Amino acid sequence: MLDGTDLRHLRRCVELARTAVDAGDEPFGSLLVDASGAVRFEDHNHVAGGDSTRHPEFAIARWSAAHLSPGERAAATVYTSGEHCPMCAAAHGWVGLGRIVYASSSEQLGTWLAALGVPAPPVSTLPITAVVPGARVDGPAPGLADEIHALHRRFRTGD
Ligand code: ZN
Repeated sequence: MLDGTDLRHLRRCVELARTAVDAGDEPFGSLLVDASGAVRFEDHNHVAGGDSTRHPEFAIARWSAAHLSPGERAAATVYTSGEHCPMCAAAHGWVGLGRIVYASSSEQLGTWLAALGVPAPPVSTLPITAVVPGARVDGPAPGLADEIHALHRRFRTGD
């Protein structure tokens, strides 16, 4: 279940995704909230330079491994505009981060990109729990789908 705090953080993720598109990167934004409710790290996608692993959820996993104790990681929540890809889900699982809340699902993204004629990605699309069976996951947030869909359309078509 998503509450008002969750939606506030997800709206910030969508803002970060918009910042990414403005920079020529794919529209994904994510942030990390600790057990006290403080935002500790936020980032957006940085793949325009040619490194397709530069997803914000991957950056969060690596940042948290460097800066948070195992207990702090388990108690933290990762918010993201789009559900983790398998690479990022694996990184999340390996560093032992806690709950994930996403605004739009990988299934939604797949539908949107197929409709835009975008070829299938080189990595399988899987639900987070197919990669990290014990993950606590909430989403999508139906009220944000149109906005995120529009960002993907803008990135792909300039429209
Ligand atoms: Zn990813």
